Amino acid sequence: MKAVRIHEFGGPEVLRYEEVPDPQLRKDQVLVRVRACAMNHLDLWVRKGLPGIKLPHILGSDIAGEIVDTGEYVPGFKAGQRVLLAPMHFCHHCAKCTAGLQNQCRQFTVLGNAVDGGNCELISVPAVNVIPIPDSLDFHQAASVPLVFLTAWHMLAGRAGVKPGQTVLVLGANSGVGIAGIQIAKLFHCTVIATGGDETKMARARELGADHVINHYQQKISDEVRKITSKEGVDTVLEHVGAATWEESVRSLKPGGTLVTCGATSGFQVGMELRFLFARQLSILGSYMGTMGELHEVLQHVFSGRLKPVVDRTFPLQDARAAHEHMEKSQMFGKIVLVP
Ligand SMILES: [Zn+2]
Repeated sequence: MKAVRIHEFGGPEVLRYEEVPDPQLRKDQVLVRVRACAMNHLDLWVRKGLPGIKLPHILGSDIAGEIVDTGEYVPGFKAGQRVLLAPMHFCHHCAKCTAGLQNQCRQFTVLGNAVDGGNCELISVPAVNVIPIPDSLDFHQAASVPLVFLTAWHMLAGRAGVKPGQTVLVLGANSGVGIAGIQIAKLFHCTVIATGGDETKMARARELGADHVINHYQQKISDEVRKITSKEGVDTVLEHVGAATWEESVRSLKPGGTLVTCGATSGFQVGMELRFLFARQLSILGSYMGTMGELHEVLQHVFSGRLKPVVDRTFPLQDARAAHEHMEKSQMFGKIVLVP
């Protein structure tokens, strides 16, 4: 089959479209023909180099496609069935996995990170990862769902526990997590304040349901939040930007508020005045992906049309390099999808 692999870490030039051996199908696995693989910031981190990656390596976490074949121990699926793949890899046996907390498993990783991913034509995965999709969702849309909608669901529902009537600040409305976060917070009947970098992205954030939108380049986020909330601040901040926004995110919280973070696309080092943390009784929560149970929960809302994936544009798989360059410019609104 054809695949995009990296043989060394570096810039977009290390992506190589080449012939590789077809994957083997284990008895407990399902072989899937990849019809779409959506990109995430994780692809850029992996390409630049993360610990635990064996080279050569196939990138790509968010996969949708058709079943080609099933292993002997896998009942209930048939060839040709349209599916998406849960992007998680875990051991299935440990205390955390058997308790349904797969994202706390010591072997937990994401497809395309410490194990090969979906920038290829065929992939074999354990049956637990394979989830049928309705006809209302095309492959590009289906591939745009799992990682970001699961991440935002775990952050807001699992970790922060948002409640109806609360106010949620969602940073970076154009990102995959931002797009999912706005919609999920609205699903929970929260008031949503989103941030965007230009007029077009701000308008798109309103279309997704944001009640207020702040221009994070031209306006000071915490000042605008104070105006919008009558000086009160927000209950929850959904953070994934890191260094560039951290201080403003903390300042935007009301007393007793919660900041939940799943990433740091602008840098990992942040400063924090502890007096704000204790005196205002803030909660700072880390969040990483989510559980299989949460994935099934959030997918029910996607399949019924209450939550909508947003596709920015598609690239043929062999143009993965151009797709990475497009993502690095941060000009997208929604997911970039590679099509084998
Ligand atoms: Zn485990």
